[in-house]
Amino acid sequence: MTSSHYGLIIIGGGPVGMSLALALCNSGLSVLLLEARGEPEKKEDPRPLAFSHGSRLILQRLGVWESLPEVAPITTIHISNRGSFGRTILTARDVDVPALGYVVIHHDVFRSMHERLQDCGVDYLTGAQVTRLESSTEEGQVEFQHNGVIKQATANLLVLADGGRLTGQVEGITQHTHDYQQWAVVAGIKTSLPQCGTAYERFTSDGPVAFLPLGRYFSLVWTVSPLAAQEILSLDDDAFMARLHHHFGDRIGKFIGASKRSGFPLALKYATPITACRIALIGNAAQTLHPVAGQGFNLGLRDAWELAREIITMPSDTGAPVMLSKYRHKRQIDSGAGRTFTDSLIKLFSNDTLLLQGMRGMGLSALDCLPPAKRFVAKRMMFGSRG
Ligand SMILES: Cc1cc2nc3c(=O)[nH]c(=O)nc-3n(C[C@H](O)[C@H](O)[C@H](O)COP(=O)(O)OP(=O)(O)OC[C@H]3O[C@@H](n4cnc5c(N)ncnc54)[C@H](O)[C@@H]3O)c2cc1C
Repeated sequence: MTSSHYGLIIIGGGPVGMSLALALCNSGLSVLLLEARGEPEKKEDPRPLAFSHGSRLILQRLGVWESLPEVAPITTIHISNRGSFGRTILTARDVDVPALGYVVIHHDVFRSMHERLQDCGVDYLTGAQVTRLESSTEEGQVEFQHNGVIKQATANLLVLADGGRLTGQVEGITQHTHDYQQWAVVAGIKTSLPQCGTAYERFTSDGPVAFLPLGRYFSLVWTVSPLAAQEILSLDDDAFMARLHHHFGDRIGKFIGASKRSGFPLALKYATPITACRIALIGNAAQTLHPVAGQGFNLGLRDAWELAREIITMPSDTGAPVMLSKYRHKRQIDSGAGRTFTDSLIKLFSNDTLLLQGMRGMGLSALDCLPPAKRFVAKRMMFGSRG
């Protein structure tokens, strides 16, 4: 068994773990990044990620933004509620930014980061599955399998960016889970009307349905029950588009083409606290949210960015209690606000009593008439709790 010591070991090379590695590229710290999947760059993951303006700024600093093959700006967001009169429209002009957000496909982000990591001085191993971790006051230790060999490594700090799969092994951290009993069906949709930078979010009693502008297509995220998801995934394209049309209506024209569909089960998961002895959690390992408000990756990216700032400011304290405490406090409000906002939206819009339907309609209309309130909502969506 071979063993080595690092300043930092990142477990999980998803987009958030890779962001942290990239943010530490020229920090002088020795970094090991372990990703379980072999050849992860070849995997197709068609889910659309809506990036906030704030995330764009971070991705530019990480040198990832410029290499993304396709980025579609969202200049307007149209929010409505099926079965009630209200609607609200947020525009980039309301908040004086070029775009409210940007849509990028998950595997494009993944590949750009993967590429960028090849020459940035990080020890980056794919096909490296961590099977065990433990920590003491002095250091963290991982055991992982790579090329059929079991290896060990130690570090001043272990960062869990594994989507929460290993959290159960960490003493002192509790993972909370709420299954929404919903799935997201994702597909590219071609419509008879061109997309003009407008994203549509429509709340229905089954869950929200979103159309995000992407090149010549829309990218659909359709929330349905687990049973309906299995049915929808097995329909042929014509039957699928007919069912979608019945659900969403004509607002963006007729549906004239659909790409391959994928399904994702949806749950709220979060860890408390997000640090333990020589361990910090980031991204989906710290909080996994419903995609309704497009917050998950944006929040995870801010986790990675804030953790990197703490490490770069005081490298000798990497993994020390004082550093972990600062990271935990910095992330508390942003993460809690993102979680509460997302979860409340799902609960508020899943309830179909007439009274709530009316209140939702009035709420959306009132928001539409109040520019300061609209600016407040838009800024939170773009930059997190600090607005
Ligand atoms: C349908 C859908 C739409 C979404 N839309 C948006 C959106 O518009 N905007 C937004 O901000 N967010 C969105 N999200 C959320 C976003 O996709 C996630 O927040 C983001 O992908 C989390 O990245 P991560 O790197 O933290 O975790 P993951 O993507 O889960 O990556 C974890 C990585 O760790 C690796 N790993 C796991 N276990 C081990 C181990 N033992 N050893 C080594 N490696 C391991 C895995 O292979 C994986 O690569 C959406 C999610 C869904 C499902």
